[in-house]
Amino acid sequence: RLFVAANFVMACCWRVQRLPREGETLLSSSFAAEPGGKGLNVAIGARRLGAEVDALLGIGRDAAGDRLLALLAEEGMAPDHAYRLADSSGHGCGLIDAHGRNSIAVCLGPNLLLEPRHADAAAEEIARADAVYGQFETSLGALQRVFEIAARHGRLTVLNPSPYQPIPAELLALTRVLLANEVEAAELLDWQLPQGASLSDCAASLDAAAQAFWPRWPQGQLLLLTLGALGAVALRRDRPPLAVPGFAVAVQDSMGAGDAFAAGLLTQLLSGQDLAASLRVANACGALMCMRAGVLQGLPRAADLQAFLLR
Ligand code: ADP
Repeated sequence: RLFVAANFVMACCWRVQRLPREGETLLSSSFAAEPGGKGLNVAIGARRLGAEVDALLGIGRDAAGDRLLALLAEEGMAPDHAYRLADSSGHGCGLIDAHGRNSIAVCLGPNLLLEPRHADAAAEEIARADAVYGQFETSLGALQRVFEIAARHGRLTVLNPSPYQPIPAELLALTRVLLANEVEAAELLDWQLPQGASLSDCAASLDAAAQAFWPRWPQGQLLLLTLGALGAVALRRDRPPLAVPGFAVAVQDSMGAGDAFAAGLLTQLLSGQDLAASLRVANACGALMCMRAGVLQGLPRAADLQAFLLR
């Protein structure tokens, strides 16, 4: 059972031949909108892989908010902690050009209006969960309270510091597992992906960079780094790094790969799999996401994952 301090944005995407210049209006060849947001993706991803999932969400009193509630029902998730806190839901606006380059603006709106009292109202679900997962597209106050309640009950706390901002000391002290991609790892560990490096080179250089980080994070148990097609590296205090290679697949669009990875990792760890096996499944979930366009429809279900792993 998982509790996610989630976020919801209606992700709107316009395809254009090229990105418009300042002051310019272009016609777009297609428009699509789908529910998204890192926390929501992880919640739905874990649910599709068989976990029981509760999510804390700040949404709008609008059609996007209605769509989110319908989606939760479709996925078999309770809407009990989705609060309508503003007229408009969070929205993302993305323009994608013919080469796949993009310009994106996001308004988080009611995601930032969640308060510690909303987390308090979910205290029972948080205490009941084996793990909680949070990220930075939600209100820091609510996130902190979710982690406080989880820590009080000895639950595993997993933080994805994305979009990156320095992790407040009191939140870091409540976090047991950190999950970061290459960009976040660079900030967190003052690390740079060595040019043309292999996965084992990366593992060694991440391990070296993390030596300065562990003393700042005495409560930390596990630092997980995702490295795109290369795969993932797990670092534990005073243990050699564990590097698990990614799957070679034909990539359609890698958007959401990190969220699919997180969903796979959490469901495996919670079902008692060891770290190496969990990372392999998480890599498979990331790879499956890359093989499909779109994020929501790319989040694999248990049957897709089984078929992929047996191929
Ligand atoms: P994010 O989506 O947060 O930027 P990554 O790009 O590191 O995160 O991807 C997360 C995980 O998804 C990787 O660790 C890997 O398992 C998988 N993945 C990402 N890109 C690819 C790819 N091109 N081929 C295969 N797997 C991939």
